[in-house]
Amino acid sequence: MKNPTLPEHLDMQVELPMVPPRSKTRPSVASTEATRAIEEDPEIPHLSEQEMIERIQVLRKERNAVILAHNYQIPIIQDLADFVGDSLQLSQQAAQTDAKVIVFCGVHFMAETAAILCPDKTVLIPDPEAGCSLAATVTAEEVRQWKAQHPNGVVVAYVNTNADVKAESDYCCTSSNALKVVQAIPEDKEILFLPDMFLGLYVQRMTGRKLHLWMGECHVHAGIRSEDILRMLREHPEADLLMHPECGCVSQCMFALAEGELPAERTFIYGTGGMVKHVRQSSAPVHLVATEVGMLHRLKKEAPQKRFIPVREDAICEYMKTITLPKLYRSLRDMVYEVRVPDEIAVRARRAIERMLEIV
Ligand code: SF4
Repeated sequence: MKNPTLPEHLDMQVELPMVPPRSKTRPSVASTEATRAIEEDPEIPHLSEQEMIERIQVLRKERNAVILAHNYQIPIIQDLADFVGDSLQLSQQAAQTDAKVIVFCGVHFMAETAAILCPDKTVLIPDPEAGCSLAATVTAEEVRQWKAQHPNGVVVAYVNTNADVKAESDYCCTSSNALKVVQAIPEDKEILFLPDMFLGLYVQRMTGRKLHLWMGECHVHAGIRSEDILRMLREHPEADLLMHPECGCVSQCMFALAEGELPAERTFIYGTGGMVKHVRQSSAPVHLVATEVGMLHRLKKEAPQKRFIPVREDAICEYMKTITLPKLYRSLRDMVYEVRVPDEIAVRARRAIERMLEIV
């Protein structure tokens, strides 16, 4: 059977970027304001987990609030959420909800996207310092300079970018729709793809389009190496491999696939939403999962009879994990922290997001 997540011709030349990835200062969540507020709170440190859950259940009704959680959130947050999904699914849920308040359990750029799409709703994030190492690799000023070097270029921004970067972009995309977005752009247009170079390389290979790539990376996915993949496949010959296109090993794995070192019939490259669909349909009893480990909780809930093994147990995003039960409770109790995007940025960023939503 043809594997739709791999290119038609695996023997195509594997090009690795010749410039090293951009290293910017990673946001730190070692001691956030929200964490300190919880420690000093007169009530929260004295509540049990069950008491906090009960209070959240009351407050979510009183506030007419919907709780959205990304697939990488800790299990208790996923279990409390009204909806768990990938970036695209969460954006769509935010755009469709009738609730007055959206509590976004994810990282800051995701809550910003919800605020851009829902200007008439109150969007809260339990910890606004939940950043993203990938989003931190590019600024709006750098995009303006890049566009000046390619005046006819069309900018496609992965959704893992801050609102002011989206405002400089023509289209947004997620890992689940990046191929469709790039394919929708006329062949004669130059494309500037940012910020994830591994996703960009994957899109380039799958579409056959030559892209200008921003050399950004996510530290969690960049840390998953081809040696890890090869070792796990050797140890679990019955398993399907599910690999996120942001992984640092995608390019090497394409090469290994071409060389026959990886089994093309068992290797699947998906965003987190695609992984969920795959395990619902696949007959494989075991799945190796090459992405952030929070994904395993979601996959186990989808297919409890199957076994899921992380390719790396230390693939943990500290930004996603900074959202905790006490912070979610405080967010609903005190209506903190509201995410607002200035109008002049929101209008332009919304155009790029809506162009994406029109395509998928
Ligand atoms: S896993 Fe990577 S891309 Fe996703 S939020 Fe964390 S740092 Fe950002």
